[in-house]
Amino acid sequence: MPIEFNAHTHDAQFHSPLEEFELVEMPIEHRVDPLTGQETRLVEQVFPAPETEPDIDEYVTRGEDELCFFCPDMVGDSTPTYPPFVEADRGNVGEATGFPNLFPYAEHSNVVSLTEDHFRRMEEFEPAHFRDGFTCALEFLHDVMAHDDPDYASINMNLLPSAGSSVVHPHMQTIADNHGTNEMRRIRASERSYMDEHGESYWEGLVAEERDGPRHIASTGDVEWIAPFAPTHHWHVSAVTDVTTLPDPTDSVIEELAEGITSVLSYYADQGLNAHNFALRLGDGDGSPMVLDIVGRTPFGEHYVSDAFFFTTIHDERVVDVAPETYASEVSEYF
Ligand SMILES: [Zn+2]
Repeated sequence: MPIEFNAHTHDAQFHSPLEEFELVEMPIEHRVDPLTGQETRLVEQVFPAPETEPDIDEYVTRGEDELCFFCPDMVGDSTPTYPPFVEADRGNVGEATGFPNLFPYAEHSNVVSLTEDHFRRMEEFEPAHFRDGFTCALEFLHDVMAHDDPDYASINMNLLPSAGSSVVHPHMQTIADNHGTNEMRRIRASERSYMDEHGESYWEGLVAEERDGPRHIASTGDVEWIAPFAPTHHWHVSAVTDVTTLPDPTDSVIEELAEGITSVLSYYADQGLNAHNFALRLGDGDGSPMVLDIVGRTPFGEHYVSDAFFFTTIHDERVVDVAPETYASEVSEYF
């Protein structure tokens, strides 16, 4: 069953001062996500990119008297310890340290400090940082699942304030509960109805359909990296796995995801970006595999402009300015 990629374009007309007031037409392309039906607008030049590369050295350097609860000298004393159903007091894998979120967003909510360094730029992460961080988060999730078996779980990251991070020190956040999020519920329900209607997994169909197409980026082991037809945000890249249960913390898929993340971040950095979000959505049985989504955010700097405007905050509408068919081939060069 071929997946449908639906899009259509409308033109906005005006007399342009940039073209001696000739009548011009500016295209607005509307794309429909083949799984959820959510729409994305593709319009030109909407991303608020700064003209010069922002200098963030002062912001990301820890002063001598400055406290950072995620740095190695503090993390073992100043962060919370897990409740009794979690085996360890805190998780420790390589440079990663996992502990409960002092300000939880969900019934089960942790933080994984990723690095011993107080800050790393997006292009300075090594696959081992994400591999060990995910391992730490998965160890926590295995204990959570044994205790409570929540319906939804994800492992998430913001880097720098323009991506929503209030803490400089690189970290991830795990959330797990029976609520999920609006997007997770939307995706889960759509995955189920796709299975019911077509008798196969949407994601397997998508990978088969996209493998030789203009939106395919690369493969790392069994993980397929694709630029989604209807991106949710700027330079959206998805990593589709075939893992439909909570993976063992040592599963090779974790290393394969970690390698791909560092490749995407290197591409973002070369575009002049310094901030990103990602979410690794854990699988839930047939048709609902583990999928990672990663997006670029406005480069953080002294006078940055947020890329989350009224469309994002009020209308729940996605707006991007570079087509996935354009950046997919560029990102693939970083794999
Ligand atoms: Zn720190």
